[in-house]
Amino acid sequence: MRIENHRLMGVPFQEAQWMGGEIAPEIVVLHDTASRLAPGAAASYLARNDAKVSVHFVVERDGQITQQVPANRAAWHAGKSTWQGRSGCNDFSLGIEMVNAGQMTWASETMARAWWGELLSISLFGIELIETSQHGHGLWMPYPEPQIGAVVSLLEVLFRDIPTLTDITTHWYVSPGRKVDPNPLFPLDHVRARVLGRDDPTDATADAGSIAIRPGRFVQTDTPGDTLNLRRWPSFNPNVIAAIPDATLLPLLRQGVFAGRDWLCVEYGGQQGWVLAAYTADFTV
Ligand SMILES: [Zn+2]
Repeated sequence: MRIENHRLMGVPFQEAQWMGGEIAPEIVVLHDTASRLAPGAAASYLARNDAKVSVHFVVERDGQITQQVPANRAAWHAGKSTWQGRSGCNDFSLGIEMVNAGQMTWASETMARAWWGELLSISLFGIELIETSQHGHGLWMPYPEPQIGAVVSLLEVLFRDIPTLTDITTHWYVSPGRKVDPNPLFPLDHVRARVLGRDDPTDATADAGSIAIRPGRFVQTDTPGDTLNLRRWPSFNPNVIAAIPDATLLPLLRQGVFAGRDWLCVEYGGQQGWVLAAYTADFTV
């Protein structure tokens, strides 16, 4: 596969009804369709709808890809969103929609109910009950290997052929509290590491490589005239979730060494994240 004239060669192009002006995409935002699973159903809706939504690429569960908006035009996929302090992600991102049922609830011991009422077999689809701070509580459908493989291949081509691209993120990350896609079963760390060649420790790795601190201990940021980055994971990849002002008191949750540096897991503004220990001072209450 390759990009030529902003089109992915070798896949169908089904032109979307809605699209914006010219863009130079910097990030890719991954989504779930939260829709029926029949091949083409979500793609047809995304190409033509009254909701004024559109996306660059749709990836079916069997790995089939359809392009709907050229890679140099804005699609209307992210809505109200922020990435590294910049709002309106549609103006600088490409969107990829993966066909998936989205957040489901229990219908019975063996069946999950999708938001549109359809019942889906928990064992047939390998549906799992998971709760995360980003997604909340729900039943979620895993992504089949061919679909993940197609997303990885597509991302590799995009990052090879579009020099302005720098990072891969998710709708839940750019629209926190408003969106939960892709679901917790999407192997985001694995996909980012494969495509970007960077390795973020996962939540599980971060937990395993650190120790819990007994409640009641605090540290204070020590960055005169500057802020300290709160990071989703203990690494220097683009994973900043907040900028903490100097001399802020932070509850200390965990402590660990990653890639030779001391990191602290702290709580700030209702979020948990990691800061470099070197820019904090012990604080005794
Ligand atoms: Zn989305």
